[in-house]
Amino acid sequence: MSLGIQQFFSFIHLDLRVRTLLVLICTLFVIKAVIIFIFDYIQARITSNYEREAKSKLYEDAMAASWPFLLKQKIGHLENYMTQEMKWAVRILQMIPDLILDVTSFLIYFIIALRIAPYVTVLAIIIGGVLFLLMRPLVVRVKNYSKEERLLLKEVSHQVNENFTGLKTIKSLQAEEPLVDEGRKIFKQIEFLRLRMHVSKHLTLDLVQPISVIFVSVVFAVSYFQKGFNLAVFVATVYLIQRIFVYIDKAQRTTNQFYSGMPNLLALIDFSDNVRRARELPGGDKKFSFTKELALRDVAFSYGKARTTLSGINIRINKGEMIGIIGPSGAGKTTLIDLILRLFSPTSGVIELDGQAISDISLAEWRKNVGYVSQEIFLKNATVFENIRFYDESISKEKVIEGARLANATQFISDLPNGFETMVGERGVYLSAGQRQRIALARILARSPELLILDEATAALDNESEKMIKLAIENLHGKVTVIIIAHRLTTILDADRIIAIDDGKIVETGAPADLLENHSSYLYKVNNIG
Ligand code: ATP
Repeated sequence: MSLGIQQFFSFIHLDLRVRTLLVLICTLFVIKAVIIFIFDYIQARITSNYEREAKSKLYEDAMAASWPFLLKQKIGHLENYMTQEMKWAVRILQMIPDLILDVTSFLIYFIIALRIAPYVTVLAIIIGGVLFLLMRPLVVRVKNYSKEERLLLKEVSHQVNENFTGLKTIKSLQAEEPLVDEGRKIFKQIEFLRLRMHVSKHLTLDLVQPISVIFVSVVFAVSYFQKGFNLAVFVATVYLIQRIFVYIDKAQRTTNQFYSGMPNLLALIDFSDNVRRARELPGGDKKFSFTKELALRDVAFSYGKARTTLSGINIRINKGEMIGIIGPSGAGKTTLIDLILRLFSPTSGVIELDGQAISDISLAEWRKNVGYVSQEIFLKNATVFENIRFYDESISKEKVIEGARLANATQFISDLPNGFETMVGERGVYLSAGQRQRIALARILARSPELLILDEATAALDNESEKMIKLAIENLHGKVTVIIIAHRLTTILDADRIIAIDDGKIVETGAPADLLENHSSYLYKVNNIG
C-alpha cells in the first residue's frame, strides 16, 4: 500500500514529505466537500423537479377524470396523495443516489480492509450479513405498520375536509364533540402505530453499534495474544471494520426507510394509474351546431347493474324552447340532466343534436355551449367579477356586466361595498343564497350558452330572489333554449312544455295550461297540493 503511495507521489512529481502530504489531504477534503455539494444540489434539483412534475400531472389528471370516477372519490384523498404519499415517493427517489454513494464507499473500505486483514474483514461481513437477516422480520413489521398508518392518515384528511365543508350543520346539531372524538380515536391509533414503528426501527438500528464494539473487542483480545501483533495494523483494521459497520448500519436504515415508504409509493403509483385511465374522453371532432332540435331517443341509464334509473326516454326539444322538468324526488331528473351534460353516457339509446349523436361532438365544444347552474352554487373566495368570469380570460368586462344584467344581479352588485370588486368570502358566505344564485346565473349567461340547464335553481330561494331569477329566465325565453328542473311550479308555469318524470319514465308531457286543465295530470295534482 505504502509502496503504491510512494509510486503515486513520484508519478505526480511530488516529494513524499509531511508538509506535502498535509496539503494534499486538505486539498482532497476540499475537493470532496465541493463534489458532495454539487452532488447534493443535482440530487435536490432532480427530486424537486420530479415532485413538481408528478404533482402537476396528478392534479391535471384528477381534474380531467371522468365524472363516474370522481363520484367514487372521497373528499380529501387527492390532497392526501399529493402531500403525504408524494413525500414518500420523493424520499425513495432521494435514497437511490445515497445508496449508490454508500455502496461505493462500502466497497472501498471493504477492499482496503480485505488487503490489510482478510480474515477479520470476512468475519465482519458475515456477522453484518447475519445481523441484517435476523432483523428482517422487524423490518417487515415496520412495513405493515406503515401501511396501516397510511390508511389512517388518508382517513384524517377525509374527515377534516368533509367536516369543514359541513361545519354549519355540525354546529347547529352540536355534533362537534362526537366528531372530535372520532378524530381523537384515529389520532390515538396513529400514535400507537408510530410508537410501535419507532421501537421496531430502533431495535434494528441501535443493535448494530454494540455488536460492532463487541466484535472489535473480541478481535483485539484474540490478536493481542497472537505472535507478531502490530498495533498500527490493528488500529487501521479497527477503523476500517468500524466503517464497514457504519455502512451496514446505513443499509439497515435505508431498508427501514424503504419499507416505510414503499406502501405509500405503491399506493401513489396505483392511484395515479387509475386517475390516468379514468380520463374523460374528448368526444368526437364534430362542431356544436344547434339550429333545430335536441333529441333523446329511447334513452336508458343505470348507475349499476341492480336497477335501471331511466328507461324509454324520448324527448325532442326545439331550439329556443323552454322546457320544465318535474317529478317526485328520486324520479331521475338530475340523472337526465347529467346525461345531457355528458357527465354520464346513456346505457342504451342516443342523444342527438340536429341529428348528430352528441358523443361525436367535441366535449370541449359541448361544455362551452351548454351552460349549467346547479342548486349547489360553487363560488371561489374572490371578487364578484372574478367569480363571474371564472378563469375564462376571453370573457370581456362588458360580457361580465351583461351577464350580471341578464341575471338581474346588477342592482345588488352595485349596492355591495366595492361593486364588482367586492370579495364574496369563502364559498360566497358574505352573500345571501339568492345573490349567490344570481352570480352563478350571471357566470353562465356571460358565456352566452346555446343551451341553458337550471337544476332546481330556485329551490333554496326566498320569494323575492325567486322572482328575480324567474324574471331573468323569462327574459331569455325564445333567445336561449332552457331546461329547468323545478320543485316550485311557479318557476316553470311559463315554460313552453312540461315533462313529468316518475320512476325513471316520462309520465306526461304537454303545455302547462293543457296539463292543468286535465285533473288527472301529475302537474294538476302537484299544483293543487302545493
Ligand atoms: P331529486 O328531485 O330528489 O333531486 P331526482 O329526480 O333528481 O331527485 P336523481 O338524483 O336523478 O333523482 O336520482 C334518481 C335515482 O338514481 C335515485 O333513486 C338515486 O338514488 C339514484 N342515484 C342518483 N345518483 C346515483 C349514483 N351516483 N349512484 C347510484 N345511484 C344514484
